[in-house]
Amino acid sequence: AVEAPLLSVRGLGSHYGRIAALRGVDLVVGRRQLVALVGANGAGKTTLLRTISGVQRATSGSIVFDGNDITTLRPDRRVRLGLCHVPEGRRVFGPLSVADNLVLGAYGRRDHDVVADDIERMYRMFPILRQRARLPAGTLSGGQQQMLAIARALMGRPRLLLLDEPSMGLAPRLVEEVFAAIVALRAQAMTILLVEQNAHAALAIADRGYVIETGEIVLSGNGKELLYNERVREAYLGL
Ligand code: ATP
Repeated sequence: AVEAPLLSVRGLGSHYGRIAALRGVDLVVGRRQLVALVGANGAGKTTLLRTISGVQRATSGSIVFDGNDITTLRPDRRVRLGLCHVPEGRRVFGPLSVADNLVLGAYGRRDHDVVADDIERMYRMFPILRQRARLPAGTLSGGQQQMLAIARALMGRPRLLLLDEPSMGLAPRLVEEVFAAIVALRAQAMTILLVEQNAHAALAIADRGYVIETGEIVLSGNGKELLYNERVREAYLGL
């Protein structure tokens, strides 16, 4: 049998007051896929993630996660189903240590005995976090904080990771590190919806990509297809 996608968004609309920020968005994320959503500033990328995670209300359409219609579900219920949103701007708890940030990511889990194993897993995935484990998170570099934000999210054992602009504001070498971490996650069978202004890097690693313009999906295809698409190259890659 064909496996149903993990996330299926159909005809999704969302408004700020009377202004439509999303219009009829259709988007599918298959299990164990890395899907990139690219588009210009203000196109609606953040709004789409916020609507999927439930902090922004859908005004039309539906969101189905693992067979459950979650369109009107409270955000905390969506988290419990396994949906985890890492917002823009790597919000870690600055005064708390790196280790304590990771512990907080496991908040709400009952399997306390395996939390320590998961922290160990995070340190193996992001060795720099082990080196900095006792330091306040606020003393980390931007790239390290981004890795901590992702690791903290993983501590909740999500089934779908929504990543909003993880490369924003990072120096090129750190962007590479963060993208390498995302590729590694995908290789471990994590399902990821990645929002990026860095269209080239995102499409290069994605199984599928979507291009959003003024609240509407205008193109979709596999990552490489979009990377070589004339319209994408002109509009987003400056080629
Ligand atoms: P960016 O990369 O700058 O975050 P984006 O593609 O994520 O851009 P959104 O932040 O989703 O775009 O914004 C989509 C549209 O909704 C934009 O026109 C924006 O001005 C508008 N918008 C976003 N947040 C609000 C808000 N809180 N109130 C009113 N309009 C908003």
